[in-house]
Amino acid sequence: MTYRTYHTYLTYLTFFRYPLPHMPAPSLDLLVSLCKRRGFIFAGSDIYGGLANTWDYGPLGVELKNKLKKEWWKTFIRSRTDMVGLDASILMNPKVWEASGHVSSFTDPLVDCKKCKQRFRGDKLLEEKLGVEAAAILKLDQVQKMLMAEKIACPHCKAVDWTEAKRFNLMFKTHQGVVEEEAALVYLRPETAQGIFVNFKNILDTMRLRLPFGVGQIGKAFRNEITPGNFTFRTREFEQMEIEYFVEPGTAEKYFDVWKDAVWNWYTGLGIAKDKLRIREHDKDELSHYSSRTIDIEYQFPWGFGELFGLANRGNFDLSQHEKFSGQELKYTDPDEPTKKFLPHVIEPSFGCDRTVLTFLLEAYTEETLPNGESRTVMKFDRRLAPVDVAILPLSKKEHLIAKAQEIYKMLLDKTDLTVDFDVTGSIGKRYRRQDEIGTPQCITVDFGTLGEDPAQGATDTVTLRDRDTLKQDRISIGDLIKAL
Ligand code: ATP
Repeated sequence: MTYRTYHTYLTYLTFFRYPLPHMPAPSLDLLVSLCKRRGFIFAGSDIYGGLANTWDYGPLGVELKNKLKKEWWKTFIRSRTDMVGLDASILMNPKVWEASGHVSSFTDPLVDCKKCKQRFRGDKLLEEKLGVEAAAILKLDQVQKMLMAEKIACPHCKAVDWTEAKRFNLMFKTHQGVVEEEAALVYLRPETAQGIFVNFKNILDTMRLRLPFGVGQIGKAFRNEITPGNFTFRTREFEQMEIEYFVEPGTAEKYFDVWKDAVWNWYTGLGIAKDKLRIREHDKDELSHYSSRTIDIEYQFPWGFGELFGLANRGNFDLSQHEKFSGQELKYTDPDEPTKKFLPHVIEPSFGCDRTVLTFLLEAYTEETLPNGESRTVMKFDRRLAPVDVAILPLSKKEHLIAKAQEIYKMLLDKTDLTVDFDVTGSIGKRYRRQDEIGTPQCITVDFGTLGEDPAQGATDTVTLRDRDTLKQDRISIGDLIKAL
């Protein structure tokens, strides 16, 4: 299709306001393939055959992830006077993990299939059959019995022959310095939260904060998961976006609900459909050792509902443990009543960054059939998340046309913060389809009308601005372009 007929055709669609049907991502495989084809996410160490469920964000994936983190930081840190940020180290004094309970309790029940020797998380196998609540309250010595009683087959070889469950600690160990001995043992942090707790006193001493206040950080965490899988949903290296919100004892439940609403609104405000989200309250028996109340926000992934975000009332567990183990006083002094000293209680909103990126990818993925039977795949990202904000597409490769398009490109880079793509390869129809597939909200076509050489294409110094979702095309002057983006 030539540019002109494509243009007329799209205008026709817009004119009749054709309601394009929206279909959710039909399968994870389709998304994985789009991510690879279009440079969002690649298999890690690909040329060496990969490394079990490791993934690398490609040029578009890193833009998407950075924009997501920027939105998160803007909403929860920069635009609030009660929040500050932090970037703590991944390697921490091992005593941190003794104090937090991770050395003794951060374990999953590991079972082996006696026939094929593959290893699995016993609780996850049971969860599929019995539901998450029932599986979470099982004691270690009940796991094998239940697997056998429920006749749960090995996902690999289909045998029903399980070993007793063993506790498997998920923390990655490494050695610091040149000597590989026990004294030099350190862990890769399994959560970012503890970096905040150990800096609580530093932040209190330097930032003149009053309760309630929170500290947020974004960073890598590492868990030696027994069964990573489902693309970036469960990996051994991942990023978290965590907040520890410090409050006066007795007020935690109130702030718990405030955070629940704030997080729900953030996800839905950026385009996650409400009917794909649900809140799951943890049963009392299921709660972690530090928590008096936990909820998860779950998203309906192609394989079923899975945790996207967790909110926990941690009480003063962490601060009191760190006081005990470090010997340092971590109490807060009420500035209005200097004799009133206490350990604040903590509400923890904990976001998985990679799971959130995956959710936005799934949610954006749309296949549409146009009235002429042609279909297109379009990533309907919220504009704030789209990896490319605007693409400049010169209609032909003629040198003077490219030069004009480059002038516009440079103007946008100089005068805006937008991520701008410049694409000259292939027919205009193909380029529109590529931009749809990567979710670019707007395309600017520079043609011979722009140059004043073909009034039929448009007036001098005007360009065509095409909208990704409505397919509407407007002819606007270059002087009005920045306003229109
Ligand atoms: P799960 O039950 O799925 O193992 P969790 O309850 O252990 O998760 P948290 O400790 O609450 O997870 O971590 C906070 C968030 O970090 C989770 O809501 C999730 O989004 C993310 N997360 C946890 N483990 C992983 C992982 N292995 N890969 C990717 N993201 C993860």
